[in-house]
Amino acid sequence: MKNGLKILGFFFGGITLLFFILISIRPEPEALTKYLVKPIMSPKSNELSVQFLGNTNLLFSDGTTHILTDGFFSRPSAYEILGGEVSPNSEGVIEDLKRANITRLDAIIPLHSHFDHAMDAGLVADLTGAKLLGSSSSINIGKGYGLAAEQMQIPPLNEPIFLGKFKLTFIASQHWQYPDKAQRDILLNQDIEAPIVPPASIYDYKEGISYTLLIEHDSTKIAVQGSAGFKKDVIPDFKADILFLSIAGLESMDETYNQNYQEYVVEAVQPEVLVPIHWDDFTIPLSKGLKTTHVLFNWLYGSDLVKAFEIVEQKNLTKNRKIKVLPLWKPFKMVELIQQ
Ligand SMILES: [Zn+2]
Repeated sequence: MKNGLKILGFFFGGITLLFFILISIRPEPEALTKYLVKPIMSPKSNELSVQFLGNTNLLFSDGTTHILTDGFFSRPSAYEILGGEVSPNSEGVIEDLKRANITRLDAIIPLHSHFDHAMDAGLVADLTGAKLLGSSSSINIGKGYGLAAEQMQIPPLNEPIFLGKFKLTFIASQHWQYPDKAQRDILLNQDIEAPIVPPASIYDYKEGISYTLLIEHDSTKIAVQGSAGFKKDVIPDFKADILFLSIAGLESMDETYNQNYQEYVVEAVQPEVLVPIHWDDFTIPLSKGLKTTHVLFNWLYGSDLVKAFEIVEQKNLTKNRKIKVLPLWKPFKMVELIQQ
């Protein structure tokens, strides 16, 4: 009996040890250092700049007008997500906004309405005075937060709207297709039909519309793809200087899918520079820096960031396109990012 207990103890001890080893190893693609943009001079306050704030958070600013995509900072832990319910963490959000030097925003734009993009939109709008610009699903997240109707707007599709010197065009694109049908059925092609008051299940945060966002500022043209999905021929004639491209999940798609993503998103805007986004583990707080997903996650979900980067390299380096990885927090002058 005593020996039996001992063996059991060793067994569970071993399993626990293995678990902690597997969640502590985070394979890092070489691309993350190879393409990392070296610090250059900080942009002057009146120059168009971009700042990467993890996942798909991008702050575009010209010193007068400030636009943030997604604004997802809460980053609940894997245990919270698996536990079933998530909610914005206002202390963490306030801290991250401070770190990013954000005091005021003109617009917060959830690129679609899953929790890892839109969950904090109402809170961020409230803290910064931003208008929440998004689909009816994202508006329902704002409503659940208690945002006033005047502080929210559903942008028209395919027609520009203007914010200061920024011209924004929202295109209805498609979300990355989860390989698992059950996930697709729950999370894709549905709207959030009623205000969400957190804590809520991550499955309450339905997709809404997945946008391709086109941004023009003076002569600079920018495109943002917040999820690695595509719709054929929806992007109008638009030649982007720089494309912020979501790469999460490319490794699980077949070659036809990836070729279509390339053709209908990347080649549709023919960027000079391509900046991968949506590559970090969004269950780690930004205060700990950007981390890749661990091997246990990769094994459970078939994730492979090394492969995702290889796909992007394969399809773009031969076209003389530059790939640039942005570090966290640091603002870059857009012109330098495009030209250097
Ligand atoms: Zn999503």
